[in-house]
Amino acid sequence: MEEKVHINIPERAEQVIDAIEGAGFEAYAVGGCVRDSILGREPQDWDITTSARPEQVKSLFPRCIDTGIRHGTVTVMMGREGFEVTTYRVDGKYEDGRHPREVHFTPSLEEDLKRRDFTINAMAYNHRQGLVDIFGGRKDMDAGILRCVGDPVARFSEDALRILRAVRFSAQLGYRIEEGTREGIRRLSENLRCISAERIQAELVKLVCSPHPDFLREAYALGVTRVFFPEFDRAMETEQEHPHHCYCVGEHILHSMKAVRADRILRLAMLFHDLGKPGTLERDEKGITHFHGHAAVSADLAEKILGRLKFDNDTCALVHKLVLYHDYGNDQQPDMRAVRRAVNKIGTDAFPALFEVKRADILAQSDYCREEKLERLERWQELYRRVMDEGHCISLKELAVSGRDLIAGGMKPGKEVGRVLQQLLELVLEDPDCNTRERLLEEAKNILAG
Ligand code: ATP
Ligand code: MG
Repeated sequence: MEEKVHINIPERAEQVIDAIEGAGFEAYAVGGCVRDSILGREPQDWDITTSARPEQVKSLFPRCIDTGIRHGTVTVMMGREGFEVTTYRVDGKYEDGRHPREVHFTPSLEEDLKRRDFTINAMAYNHRQGLVDIFGGRKDMDAGILRCVGDPVARFSEDALRILRAVRFSAQLGYRIEEGTREGIRRLSENLRCISAERIQAELVKLVCSPHPDFLREAYALGVTRVFFPEFDRAMETEQEHPHHCYCVGEHILHSMKAVRADRILRLAMLFHDLGKPGTLERDEKGITHFHGHAAVSADLAEKILGRLKFDNDTCALVHKLVLYHDYGNDQQPDMRAVRRAVNKIGTDAFPALFEVKRADILAQSDYCREEKLERLERWQELYRRVMDEGHCISLKELAVSGRDLIAGGMKPGKEVGRVLQQLLELVLEDPDCNTRERLLEEAKNILAG
């Protein structure tokens, strides 16, 4: 006998369910919240499914919002908290990968559960009936399996977004995708072309920020990345023959994502950092691979791909920068001067994230010279902290003189002022002790005289 499931439904969600049941209808918590509760994860929101029609739901509560009334969804407000209450329904064709063009209401909970994507997402629960698990969601959960409800080919044909959701859930939960479901993905991956960039972006971010970002490998294996991210396929197909490396470019990328904290910017930076390698590959006479200039090519690709997936400009700019400079300073023993120059060139917004990128990159390489590489990085970081703690001047903002000062000292306004300030900054980057008003005004005179 299966052990009985008990789920702690938050009080307000419980009140919604009780009120609907009290009026003679059925109501259940459903989908993600049931799945997450059984898994011991905190549900993000509590969706409720009901036999009551939207008008009937609305008549039971003083405050409701017509969130998706066409699709049977009403948001019931309980204080400041909202609960999406959706009438049992059967879906027509999905138009934007999320909302079906038309829906039919049904009196049957089973019909409603049948339209849901995966067995683990197709369970309902209330205190009266306990768990309603018609498609074996519990069993799949115990076995760590992600499986379509019904025929995978049919389900992925209805809505191709489910293809990406499958890979994303498997990465979030560490589940393997069931073979029939994998086959369905393989056969229908091309359909992803109909899915909007915004939806793909959202799923990709959830995937790469999950505990298993390397499950992107599965998306590659099933022909999914080929459709929206072919640059990654090229990386998976580019070998690296080099003492520093032990993986092909794509596998190195996957390992580097695993080696960095689950932060959106950092994971994206790792995802793109070496994508320029396939396009810069050269082999020397010994067969060793080289990728001169790959960081700049990767940065350009990052910008192009993030743009294609409609990422916001701030994300594009920061990821671009981290990718562009991921190898910066690798060939140099750092000192304070080098650190000031680096921060001036790269900008404070990319620090200290850049160190995390570099560390993950090293950890995803072969262990050849690993200790030395990590020690050098540690040294960079230590010096960076000192430069910051001591408040060294690393940009025009902290220079002890401004353009206005130079003009007050007799310089004609114009381009020349900027040029002199830049030269003064160079001086201060070399030697922070120069950063006094007196000294710099004098240096400015020398520059103008020389
Ligand atoms: P999360 O919120 O963590 O992304 P979730 O399972 O709650 O996961 P939602 O997108 O919030 O996902 O959807 C809620 C429920 O609606 C799902 O659990 C599933 O039952 C159903 N569902 C969502 N999208 C689809 C879809 N494209 N096809 C079929 N059912 C879906
Ligand atoms: Mg949800």
